[in-house]
Order: sequence, then structure tokens, then C-alpha cells
Amino acid sequence: MFNNMAIQGNAFYCIDFNKTKYVNKGIFCINDEGYIEEVYEEGHENYDLIRSKYLKSGKLRILSDSEVMLPGFVDLHIHASQWPQAGTALDRPLETWLGEYTFPLESKFKDLEFANEVYRDVVSTTLKHGTTTAMYFATADRKSSTLLASLCGELGQRGLIGKVAMDDPNGNLEFYRDATPEEAVYETEKFINEVFEIQNLYKQKVYPVVTPRFIPSCTSEALAGLGRLAKKYDVHIQTHCSESDWAHQFAKDKYGVNDTQALDNFGLITEKTVIAHAPFLEPDDLKTIANKKTSIAHSPLSNVYFANAVLPFNEFSSKGVNIGMATDISGGYSPSMYQSIRQAVISSRMLQEGVNPSLPRDERGRTSSSITINNAFYSATVAGGKALNLPIGKLEKGYSFDAQMINIENNIPKFYKEKNSEDLLHKILLLSESSNIKEVWVQGSRVR
Ligand SMILES: [Zn+2]
Repeated sequence: MFNNMAIQGNAFYCIDFNKTKYVNKGIFCINDEGYIEEVYEEGHENYDLIRSKYLKSGKLRILSDSEVMLPGFVDLHIHASQWPQAGTALDRPLETWLGEYTFPLESKFKDLEFANEVYRDVVSTTLKHGTTTAMYFATADRKSSTLLASLCGELGQRGLIGKVAMDDPNGNLEFYRDATPEEAVYETEKFINEVFEIQNLYKQKVYPVVTPRFIPSCTSEALAGLGRLAKKYDVHIQTHCSESDWAHQFAKDKYGVNDTQALDNFGLITEKTVIAHAPFLEPDDLKTIANKKTSIAHSPLSNVYFANAVLPFNEFSSKGVNIGMATDISGGYSPSMYQSIRQAVISSRMLQEGVNPSLPRDERGRTSSSITINNAFYSATVAGGKALNLPIGKLEKGYSFDAQMINIENNIPKFYKEKNSEDLLHKILLLSESSNIKEVWVQGSRVR
């Protein structure tokens, strides 16, 4: 009954896709394992009793009126190894961006000193921006990928990490790939076991992820082997899927089926799979991933640069597909999930209204496409937890206590008084910078 510690304060989180909840001066009781054991709202019959018990034992932390708690964000798709080039070369064609910038950079991570420096910085930076859980692509190099897992552990972030498999000589540059399909599979298996060895050293845990880069960079042998590994170890899977016109067409040309179907045939579409981008999914693909409970990592910022289209968020979600949010460093330039939330709303509105003023208004857009700020907040928190099958994303009984404490005084115009709590939430989501995030907690421990 008497838990480890409690925090009393105001908080917002999403109950479902459309509804958010505001908790006024709630007492959030957190147990030794870092889970929320109970939340007492003002007016609860035991509220005063519980409050004085925690106060007497010196285990009650009281937030001020200018602080608000939000759940930590779940970044479902981020290339940790591309962090050094964030904000660089986004106006170049994709081939140049990959061939002259991204692949040469990723190939440098064999140097563990370099990897240590970059990975430490990306984990600290994303934590500072309120990301308490991140699903990372590392690189094709195993040792530095395992290093990323231990750095997440050490710095207190819940990391899901993939050693990238990319073995096809036709789809990769000679200096940066797995030498053979056997090597791609062998190194991935070794990586999974290395991460399992350190998984429980950290309260918040770290997880290995089977990570074929995408169909164009992997041979069929490697994809089949990776599908077997995912099944054998029951681990998460991540890949890019139907990201652009070119990528969507590639699978059709090679396998005669869509990306999603090809991945499914290799055992790579499961309830633990996250597919990044995916704006070009077709009705059958949506059926497949809805049935298998596979989730999409929506990367609204990088989609502007490399996807050739806006994700039809509402349409896909109305077909029962779970859509989480992602920064996609460095196709997206910002490490902040706030930026992803904002861009997701903006892009969806542009999809709805259309962008070509020469067209008549009723031909310009795609109806019912715009999403609300609440929808995007849900996507960045609850949907991320659902995608990973982990109890994260809500500040509710039974969930991990993963939270960010926002100081609402510095960035929010003082002369305006919000009419209701929803106005305040929107302000926080649209105006907060990392400097407004005063503390970050993961699994009941303060990490920033
Ligand atoms: Zn990506």
C-alpha cells in the first residue's frame, strides 16, 4: 500500500485518439520498479490521508503551479548514427544525400571512440527534449550498435536498438554493407544476444530490434534469415516501408508484390513491427498491417523532404492502423518530438486543403485529412507505447512513470489567461522548447 515515492502536480495525457485528460494536483504514487501504482485526484476520499502520509515520510515531491507534467515522448524512428549531420544537405537529391553524406557518415561508427561521442550526445539530447523511449537505427556495425544500447541504459533512456542489416551488393556501396547474407544474419543474432545480456542491467531496460534497412538494400536470403531470427527470439522489428515512389515501386518490380506483402512473406510483419513512413500503402497493405497489429512510425518532417507525399493519417487510422510519431533524424532535422507533432498537424492540413492555388478549391485537397493537436499528441505518446507493446505513454495506474516536467512560465505569454485546460495544453505543445523541460523521468527515476 505504501509506495516508494509520490509526486503531486498538474498533468496532461491522452485517454484515447481524441480525448485528453487534465489531472489537477494529482498525487502520482510510484513504486520501486518505477510503475505508477495509483493516482489520487483531488476530491478522492483518501486524497488528504495519502498526501499527509507521503509528506510525513518525506517522500512527496510537490510541483509548483507553473509546472505541468506530460508523459515522455516515444520516438518510433530515429537514426542515432545520422545525428552529426542533422540539418545538413536536406535540399540535395536522395541519392546525393545517401551516397555523399549518410553512408560515409554511418561507415565511421566502426571507430568506437567516435561512436561513443555521437551516441552519448544523441541520447542526452533526445532526453533533454522529452523523449523517454526511442526506437533507433544504429549502423551496420555490430559493436557500436551494442554500445548504443548500453549508453541508452546508462543515461536512463528506454532504447530499442537495431544493428542495421544491409547486404545486397546491388543496393549498397562497397565500403558500407554486410559482406554476405550470412554475415548480416550472423551479426544480427550476435547483436540480439549481446543486448539481451545487458537488457536487465537497467531499470527501464533496453531491447534489440531486427532491422533490415529496407527491401532495396537486402537480399532475399538475408530477409528470410532476419524473419527467422525475429521469430526465434520474439523481438521487435523495424524497417522502412513504401516510403517514396521509388521505394514503393522497387518491391513491386523485384517481388511482384508491395513492400508490405514482401516483408510479410519473410516473416517481418508482426505485432512487434514498426514500419517507418509508409505514405504509399495500398488498401490490401492496410488490411495486412491492421490484422497483424503492425504500427507505422509517422515521420512528418522527413516526409516533406524524401517521401514525395503526405501520410494520409486519418484514412489509415480509420482502417484500424496504429500510427506513432517519429523525428526520423536526420531525414528530419529536429531531435524534438514537439517539432514532429507540429509538422504532423501542418502537413495534414495542407493535405486536406491542397497546395496548388491554380486548382479550383474543391479539387485542391483531400477531404477529412487534417488531424488535431490532440491526435498528434496521442500519436507521440500512447500510440508509441501500443506500437512497442510496452506500458508507456500515459500517466495512469499500471504504466511506467515516464514523464517530462514543463515550466509553463518562461515561454508562454503571461498576459493571456487560457479559458480552459485544453487551451493550455495546446500552448504547451505548440510553444515549448527544450529549455522549458525542467526535468525528465524514466521508469520512476529522474534522468535529466
Ligand atoms: Zn529512416
